[in-house]
Amino acid sequence: MPAYALVRSRRRRTLCLQISPAGTLRLLVPAAAPQCEIDAFLKAKEGWIERTLTRLEQAPRAPAFAHGLALPYLNETLRLDLAYGPAKASVERLGTLLVVRARDEANARAALERWYRGVARHHAVARIIHYAPLVGRAPKRIRIAGQKTRWGSCSAQGTISVNWRLMQAPETLFDYVIAHELCHLIAPHHRAPFWRELARVMPDYARRRDELRDLGGRLPL
Ligand SMILES: [Zn+2]
Repeated sequence: MPAYALVRSRRRRTLCLQISPAGTLRLLVPAAAPQCEIDAFLKAKEGWIERTLTRLEQAPRAPAFAHGLALPYLNETLRLDLAYGPAKASVERLGTLLVVRARDEANARAALERWYRGVARHHAVARIIHYAPLVGRAPKRIRIAGQKTRWGSCSAQGTISVNWRLMQAPETLFDYVIAHELCHLIAPHHRAPFWRELARVMPDYARRRDELRDLGGRLPL
């Protein structure tokens, strides 16, 4: 039987077993539940626990944040060269190496995000300069965002936001988001005129849109 954390609660009437995505067990029980009842409950759940833990182990997960991690960078792959030390956090690109020095993982992740935000701004500006004349509109402002679930947006005030995580996507998908948001400057909705406009500047937009949909949980950062 794997280890579990036991949580007794005066308000609880029944026993309840939870397994976190990391595979840790938590057993919630009434305050006065005797050990024999807890043991019997766990025994009855044995098969389910085993199946759930196996499923969690086999589920694909984001690769560990560690030295040597492959970091997609548009159409390239960079390698994380990571070392921890007391010095101020730094990120430097040397060829295909991304050399990160930081105090700890949180510090390294923050430094990497800052670096990715910087390159994302440069790349977004360059691609907007390319696509704006094709669409016939230009944004008032470009913002680099970092939401977990949104690749880009376009405000009524004409600000285009681009997610820095898109720097981990192939260039074709980065361009899709740029063209998509620029077309919102003409049509601020997702109705037929919007898609007609996008098809005009990017005839293969549908394929790119589908690829972008599948990209979500597979990025290392
Ligand atoms: Zn849209």
